[in-house]
Amino acid sequence: MTTNKNSSEMDTGRRHFLAAIGGAGMLIGLSGTAYALRDEKIYIKTSGGALVVDLKKCMGCGTCMTTCSLAHHGKASVSLSRIQITQDVFKSFPQDIEMSTCLQCEDAPCVAACPVNANKASEDFGFVRDIDPAKCIGCMQCIEACPQTPKRVQWNPITRSAQKCDLCLNTPYMEEQGGIGGVQACKKVCPVGAIGFITELPEQNLPQSYVVNLRNENWAKTGKTIED
Ligand code: SF4
Ligand code: SF4
Repeated sequence: MTTNKNSSEMDTGRRHFLAAIGGAGMLIGLSGTAYALRDEKIYIKTSGGALVVDLKKCMGCGTCMTTCSLAHHGKASVSLSRIQITQDVFKSFPQDIEMSTCLQCEDAPCVAACPVNANKASEDFGFVRDIDPAKCIGCMQCIEACPQTPKRVQWNPITRSAQKCDLCLNTPYMEEQGGIGGVQACKKVCPVGAIGFITELPEQNLPQSYVVNLRNENWAKTGKTIED
C-alpha cells in the first residue's frame, strides 16, 4: 500500500476531533422472489445494486446517518439510520472508522428467515432486499439471521418492526425517487463522496469486497493520497 504520510496524518488528526457516533420453513406463497429448491436451499434473485464505501475518505461526520433517517422517517435520528458509522479512537487510520451498510447479500439470510415474507426482494424494485413494516410481525428473526456485525437489520422501537437499507426505495420524505435506478440519500449527501453505488455485487465471501477506493483527481487536489 502506498501511503502519503502527510495526508494520512491529516485524516487521522481530523478524526480525532470527532466523537464515536455510537456508537425456510415458510416459503410457500412467496411472490417470485425466493423459493425453496428440492434440497430446501433458498434461492433469492440477486439485488440489482448495493452500496460500497471508502473508509479512507469517510471523516465520521454522520451526515449520512441523519439524512437516512430524515429521508425514511422525517426525523434526524442516528438510531433510526440504516447506515451506521462508528469510530474507535483506539484504532489507527483508516481502521478507526467503520461504515456498516447492508451488503444486499446474494443469499440474503435475512430474507430467507422471514416467516411472513415481510422481508422480500421484489422484481418490481430490482430485487433490493426490503422490509414491509406493515407485514412485519416483529419476530426479529431477520435481525438474528443477518451475519454481519453490527446487524444490518435494525429494530425500530417506534413502529415495533424491523427495518433495513432499501437503497432509499421507501423514502416518503425525500423529493427524488430512490431505490435502484434512483437516488441513495447517504451517497448524495456525503460531503466527501465516501459512499458509492454499484450494480454488480462484489465477491460475496470476502467481507472487505464492499470497501473500495472512491478517490479521484478532486480528492488529490486536497493534498491527500488517491492510491490505496
Ligand atoms: S440485512 Fe444482513 S443478511 Fe440481509 S441482505 Fe443486508 S447484510 Fe445481508
Ligand atoms: S456523510 Fe460521508 S463522511 Fe460523513 S460519516 Fe457518512 S460516509 Fe462518512
